[in-house]
Amino acid sequence: MNVEIIKCLKDNYSYLVIDEKNKSACVIDPSEAKPIINFIEKNQIKLDFILNTHHHFDHVGGNQVLKKKYNSKVIGFEGDKDRIPKIDICLKDREIWKHKNFEFKIFHIPGHTMGHVCFNFFKEKLLFTGDTLFSLGCGRIFEGTYKQMYNSLNLIKSFALETKIYCGHEYTLNNSNFCLLHDKKNLKLKKKIFLIKKKLNKNLPTIPSTLKEELETNIFLRCDSIENFSKLRDLKDNF
Ligand code: ZN
Ligand code: FE
Repeated sequence: MNVEIIKCLKDNYSYLVIDEKNKSACVIDPSEAKPIINFIEKNQIKLDFILNTHHHFDHVGGNQVLKKKYNSKVIGFEGDKDRIPKIDICLKDREIWKHKNFEFKIFHIPGHTMGHVCFNFFKEKLLFTGDTLFSLGCGRIFEGTYKQMYNSLNLIKSFALETKIYCGHEYTLNNSNFCLLHDKKNLKLKKKIFLIKKKLNKNLPTIPSTLKEELETNIFLRCDSIENFSKLRDLKDNF
């Protein structure tokens, strides 16, 4: 299983999880169809499934065109079924989906939106976190409460440390400045920032991160109370 990172729109990432044996793929959060089609055509793979973490346009924008072109099935959370365009398969919280070599578990992680989920490909230890957990940050709370977002992040903290984190946006550099401001003495953070800048200078994504790295450097995972979390989230909204 291989993960291909596809840059979309201004700063979005879509991801293709590719089963090389069967020459087939799942796409997570296709912001737009074109860059996905380019990759699929060039590499001659089948697009079996489209997975959406939440309904925002920059995560579902490619659903309709991709589904029509490749006859793919759209998979999402049952609680978001009225807002995910062209949804075919509605999964319940903590349900496992299996098809050929693709196997993942869905987790409901509300906060950014009420129906937000993440997808855990547990055999490969990949986690697609959409706009809930970013590298060195977390999503804005649009629909949920601070408590919901805090609990959702705590759930993510319980995954295996070596889990690779694939998030919805390249916000890492801006996020790193905020983390540094509130965690000035964190040497691991400083080291990570150095590596982030190196990657960005070469026009490479800073993704994936790992859960271990995020636990060591992401201020939103490091704060120890809902009060501190809420305060930081407010400050970040105006950062
Ligand atoms: Zn969003
Ligand atoms: Fe987004």
